[in-house]
Amino acid sequence: MFYSIYYMLTPRCLLNCGYCFRDTSKESLLRELTLEDKKKVIFSLVENLNVRKITLSGGEPTIIGGVVLTQFFELIDYIRLIKVNNPTLRIELLTNGILLEKEVLQRLVGVVDRITITLDTINEKVLEKIGRNTPSYKDYLKRFEKRMSDMNDLGFETKIHSVITPVNYDYLEELAQYIKAHNDIFKINRWKFYQYMTYDDPVKDAIFQIDDQRYQLIKGKIEKILEGTSIELAFKDNQLMADSMLNLTHHGCMEHIYSSNGQKEKCLSKPVWEYSNVEELAEDLHISLEKLSKYHGYQHE
Ligand code: SF4
Repeated sequence: MFYSIYYMLTPRCLLNCGYCFRDTSKESLLRELTLEDKKKVIFSLVENLNVRKITLSGGEPTIIGGVVLTQFFELIDYIRLIKVNNPTLRIELLTNGILLEKEVLQRLVGVVDRITITLDTINEKVLEKIGRNTPSYKDYLKRFEKRMSDMNDLGFETKIHSVITPVNYDYLEELAQYIKAHNDIFKINRWKFYQYMTYDDPVKDAIFQIDDQRYQLIKGKIEKILEGTSIELAFKDNQLMADSMLNLTHHGCMEHIYSSNGQKEKCLSKPVWEYSNVEELAEDLHISLEKLSKYHGYQHE
């Protein structure tokens, strides 16, 4: 059995979106692994833990170590070497795209298979409200369009993430129409929608939490607009998120969040390089191999 893992490399980011759940406290930033330890994590995932799909995410993965691109490129070059012995290893990148100029993208060719950029709306005011257009980084939408076009030129697969919240709710149909109209240029092969998920922050929840009924309603409308396109749609509601919550943290430990007797439980592993097989890791995380395969199993094409 092979597995797929989200590796949240860093809590650092150039943006500060209102619904973002990363922990940017001083303690959290200090716990980000060194570049050498990040390489150790990647090696263990592939060599010991049967992982064949890694999504590099953050925060923002291009600024790992608190430096712009340098360490990120070094990590990419390391993964390039790992891929020589593991040609079926699939690498995905989840990014806000700010730093992905064409010459940056060129450095990722042959390592990264698919790049995902989040787009929640095309309305400039709403982008501002969410935190995607900031005084330092304006023109999120224009940048998104440029990145999509460059990514296609260079042969990357492209994907979008969108978070459904009351803030962008009335703009999602417009977004779907826009993507549909531009998909001959963007060539998006997958689009994943997330129902905003609470991370026990009442201030954020008051702004972004969306009830199931509204979520289901807009889901139906989006599906209808995009019917017949080549875009594969995926929707992740709160139930599915809660059932499948397992991530690799920026300090190199796996985190499994699950519900037990109606209570939210959090289980943290040791650093992943301390495990020689999946069974040991699953035991420490209190996750069954069945659940692991169901939500995080990976079959390469
Ligand atoms: S771009 Fe992503 S990681 Fe950065 S603040 Fe926004 S949601 Fe968080």
